[in-house]
Amino acid sequence: MYQNVQEALCLSDPLRPIHSYEVIRAKVEHLTGITQIQTDMCINSCIAYTGPFESLDACPKCATSRYEHPLTTSEQRQGNAAEGEESHSNSRGIV
Ligand SMILES: [Zn+2]
Repeated sequence: MYQNVQEALCLSDPLRPIHSYEVIRAKVEHLTGITQIQTDMCINSCIAYTGPFESLDACPKCATSRYEHPLTTSEQRQGNAAEGEESHSNSRGIV
């Protein structure tokens, strides 16, 4: 939404200095002390993988895998982590 407002303001006055979304978000975080926390969520929005669900690999309500491409062993997961891949995330949400 911020980007839409930013684009509209740029069209009406291209010389108007407008901060990027990231700059505004950082300023709001600094002023309010409220920061964004990202955590994995069930792709069906049943739960967030935090608290008692933090270590689960599948949703306890709909049984959907936490990961886009489920891994069968912890060795494979560690191998992917070592390669720096982030393909294990199903979806991210704000808690
Ligand atoms: Zn679910």
